Amino acid sequence: MISKGIKSRIKSSLFSISRHPLLKNLLSFSPTANGAIFCFHRVLPAVHESKNFPGDDYVITVDSFEKFLAFLAENFCCVDLDTYLSRINVRSSKPLCHITFDDGYSDNLEFALPAIKKFSMPTTVYVTSGYISRDCTPTHHYLIHLYDLSFNSLIQSTIDTHDVNSIFTGIDFGRDNISYFVSNSSTLLQKRVCNSLMDKTGVKPNWDIFLTPSELRSLALEPLIEIGSHTLSHPNLAKEPYETMKNEILMSKESLESTLSKKVSHFAYPYGGFKQVSQAIVQEVEKAGYSTAVTTMPRPFRGNKSFLLPRLFITNKWTENSVLTRALGLSWFLNKQLTL
Ligand SMILES: [Zn+2]
Repeated sequence: MISKGIKSRIKSSLFSISRHPLLKNLLSFSPTANGAIFCFHRVLPAVHESKNFPGDDYVITVDSFEKFLAFLAENFCCVDLDTYLSRINVRSSKPLCHITFDDGYSDNLEFALPAIKKFSMPTTVYVTSGYISRDCTPTHHYLIHLYDLSFNSLIQSTIDTHDVNSIFTGIDFGRDNISYFVSNSSTLLQKRVCNSLMDKTGVKPNWDIFLTPSELRSLALEPLIEIGSHTLSHPNLAKEPYETMKNEILMSKESLESTLSKKVSHFAYPYGGFKQVSQAIVQEVEKAGYSTAVTTMPRPFRGNKSFLLPRLFITNKWTENSVLTRALGLSWFLNKQLTL
């Protein structure tokens, strides 16, 4: 049994250490963090054969998702995005949180929505409008599907043929190389590669995993759901020519607004890392008339950066302490451990 005095001394020492500027940076420590935005892609039953999807970490089971929402409902104040922004810098007894989904998968309606409603969880679903209208190939999914069908050598040689700067020649081509190619090449190059592979293999993209326009409308009618834009074709915006980048941001908004007959105010950058979000891109998002934009950068919210909102990925491997530490910072975690 540790005495109260020793406990308090340990606590204050740990707190001083954790406030050191270097450690603060290393651990994304933020004594003012008052909430977090969580990022999901797909929710599927455990028995579901999740083939044609790049990486298990993008799929969370219904069971794990429900447990996560129950945990949030108990420990956080779950609000819509506008409320989150208006209250994030105000101290409150419970931290804020908001749930988001990216890309626009049909399982968001079938499997995520019942849990969202069960726990009354305000949620934003960022949709790639070209996937919904079936106007553009979901490159990542398509190449992974071909890879699973053992077309890896053909994918590699097709990329080599169309990309003068291909870095894949002579290497052992794997799933990670597909992710690298998709997040580091232009939409035009991806289109050429996919079209060529469709001709050679006869395999077409699987659109069924994405919401249809009428499913999207059903989702948008739900009071807890807000639909946001995730561009037209899910490019790395930093790799696109300026005009294409601008169109992806603006035209996806227009397309979704016309499908839903309502204003679309929120945006998510595809891939959303430091390398995919430049100042010019942020400016175009603002000019297009959005009111917020989310990244996939995990740092806790600091100040009023409505167009660079950080988010945290949640996988099936989440634990209560890992979520709280990542969401609220080291000081919160140490505080909790020492007051238990
Ligand atoms: Zn995405």
